[in-house]
Amino acid sequence: MSEYSYARVPDRGEPIAVADGGLSVPRRPILPFIEGDGIGPDIWSATKRVVDGAVRNAYEGEREIAWMEIFAGEKAKEKTGEWLPGETYEALREFKVGIKGPLTTPVGGGIRSLNVTLRQVLDLYACIRPCRWIEGVPSPVKEPEKLDVVIFRENTEDVYAGIEWEAGTDEAERVRRFLVEEMGSEIREESGIGIKPISPFGTRRLVAAAIRYALNRGRQSVTLMHKGNIMKFTEGAFRDWGYEVAAEEFPEVTLSEQELWRRFEGCLPEGRILVKDRIADAMFQQVLLRPDEYDVIATPNLNGDYLSDACAAQVGGLGMAPGANVGDEVALFEATHGTAPKYAGMDKVNPGSLILSAVMMLEHIGWNEAAEAIDRGLAGAIGAKTVTYDLERQMEGATKVTTSEFGEAVIRHM
Ligand code: NAP
Repeated sequence: MSEYSYARVPDRGEPIAVADGGLSVPRRPILPFIEGDGIGPDIWSATKRVVDGAVRNAYEGEREIAWMEIFAGEKAKEKTGEWLPGETYEALREFKVGIKGPLTTPVGGGIRSLNVTLRQVLDLYACIRPCRWIEGVPSPVKEPEKLDVVIFRENTEDVYAGIEWEAGTDEAERVRRFLVEEMGSEIREESGIGIKPISPFGTRRLVAAAIRYALNRGRQSVTLMHKGNIMKFTEGAFRDWGYEVAAEEFPEVTLSEQELWRRFEGCLPEGRILVKDRIADAMFQQVLLRPDEYDVIATPNLNGDYLSDACAAQVGGLGMAPGANVGDEVALFEATHGTAPKYAGMDKVNPGSLILSAVMMLEHIGWNEAAEAIDRGLAGAIGAKTVTYDLERQMEGATKVTTSEFGEAVIRHM
């Protein structure tokens, strides 16, 4: 194992290995965690207790997680002088699966978001955001239980590639002149210019990951969400490459909508995944009007950013929305909200987002029984209306509890 200067590798644990495209998980896997800034320590401490409780509940001592703290954000800056020390990447590369609380984006000094840097350096190309309602969580829609989708958002391309030139600069003017004079485009003077790259490589690996996920989790469809009617060579190409990868890499298990009707009269045969596509604006209507027709949704970066928050709002908001950033080998699970600094150290906020991210992590390593124990615990605690301030203020007759008390309630209801 590698040498670490600040992190300590647990004595009685073993690394997870990648084998035959899957994970080989020992009985006592070493899992690195980043506590996070602001409310991070509060929600992490509740989450860790819940996860350890679920693993004990499911495996009665046969399995156990060997937690390894690694550093990023303010704690890293204090300990090491750096916001994101190299050994933090090293540990995630070595141990393959980790979990993190929210991190402050340092202001000024040209420092990039730590979250974005982690995703880029580790090539975590799929941002996975499941949105599913837990009974009792306040929701703005009439039938929140009908939405149960998993969004696969491409994490490395699109307008997020950061290729932009500010209006009025020499660079913007050079690009504008090139586009007007050599490429025959029409662009007004003094425009700001941004470029949106979408590649077959980036699209194919994302859509393949979404199809594999659907297959492994018994999901029925993968929808390619795009704005290809307007941006033909980026968004439209995303759709085309998505269908291509389904037909070339998964010919036995995927079906298009045409085939479904032509060969099976609209009835999806057992074991098959329907691959379909929807235009982005229609998709937003569909998740409100016909949510139960959607399952896994694969989409470029910006569409995915918008759709994840819209779907999260439908099932109770960001306080309960989990997420993961996943690459070919490394997976990093995280709360989707920020550091909410005004509540730091108050033992007040909702740990639900990080707890649900831990559920995704347990499913990722195949510890489904422990994941199910947490699901039962969360459903029980929320069903009993024992909730933190954010949910309590929207629920009639609820009991307001602290972050740690909510964690205890989840453990009691497992
Ligand atoms: P935020 O930290 O998400 O907080 C905004 C508001 O959301 C809070 O004031 C609170 O609303 C509610 N909230 C957030 N987490 C909650 C929880 N666990 N339980 C209950 N309510 C919760 O967003 P922000 O204030 O815009 O960002 C603060 C910092 O976080 C920034 O430095 C930002 O860069 C960083 N950030 C990090 C990540 C990440 O690490 N993935 C993501 C986003 C932002 P009420 O006060 O109305 O109750």
